[in-house]
Amino acid sequence: AKSCGKNTYRFYSRKLNTRAQKRLEIENALRSANVEKDFYVLYQPIHDAKTQRISGFEALIRWNQEGSVPIGPDQFIPVAEETGIIFALSEFVLRTACRETQYLLKEGLGPLRVAVNLSAQQLYQKDFADRVQRMLRETGLPPAALELELTESTLIPNIRQTARVLQQLNKEGIRIAIDDFGTGYSSLNYLHRLPIQTLKIDKSFIQDAPDSKLAGNLVATMSMLAQNLGKRIVAEGVENLEQFEFALEKHCDEIQGFYFNSPVNHETLYKLLKEDRIQ
Ligand code: C2E
Ligand code: CA
Ligand code: CA
Ligand code: CA
Repeated sequence: AKSCGKNTYRFYSRKLNTRAQKRLEIENALRSANVEKDFYVLYQPIHDAKTQRISGFEALIRWNQEGSVPIGPDQFIPVAEETGIIFALSEFVLRTACRETQYLLKEGLGPLRVAVNLSAQQLYQKDFADRVQRMLRETGLPPAALELELTESTLIPNIRQTARVLQQLNKEGIRIAIDDFGTGYSSLNYLHRLPIQTLKIDKSFIQDAPDSKLAGNLVATMSMLAQNLGKRIVAEGVENLEQFEFALEKHCDEIQGFYFNSPVNHETLYKLLKEDRIQ
């Protein structure tokens, strides 16, 4: 039993080491990265449920690592958040998204809205709202064309500070969305306290919904809640016709997912919009 315990210990510590090592590798690679050169932004179109036309898109960061297995944002964003590298990454995404969206608007491809993901650390930056406003001025993007996405777990721990920052942003016309809605905090109290225009139903519900009565009821309830509170609702992760029809039936306002489009680069987005607008 003694040696078995020892082996178990070794086994776990080796597993732990691999995970810690992987994380350290990501951290080192992030530290030595050149943000402008090594990262880029993709855009996933969001479609109006009724007309099926493109009403906006979400900016999603990608790491350009030649020759190695691509590391997705789900893996490197948490490390970037722990190490503070998130500030440089987020600034890059926000600036790129504002500039490239303003370009599309100038090309006459509007109306459009770009959604950008925020990390908790950014909200706790003292001058965050000023930074965003400065970036809008620099790029010329109208505030109403920008939506900031936050998860419930980002908002709740420091709700008074969050409320202050979001109110300042919202007063300027910037929109606020709750990302992964339904997966986080269990109290809905914050929906009254914060200026929120959009709820994005997490893809796990959409994907289970056509087959699971519970998931279906949850989507219906979230949608009704949004309607009663006067908020727009976006169905995320719509991958097939069945899920699309389900989202329509539950009165979702907008649809995002592989069924319509995957994340694409700016050039492809431009082409998609051109086609979308002449139809
Ligand atoms: P998220 O904000 O919930 O973004 C949606 C994710 O779902 C994206 O993954 C997108 O590619 C994926 N997706 C879209 N449609 C479908 C579908 O039909 N089916 C499935 N299975 N997936 C779909 P991605 O790009 O890998 O991003 C993962 C997460 O990383 C994001 O989740 C977000 O939390 C974070 N992230 C990405 N870009 C940024 C960023 O610029 N800043 C911050 N702070 N976080 C980011
Ligand atoms: Ca998001
Ligand atoms: Ca989401
Ligand atoms: Ca997420």
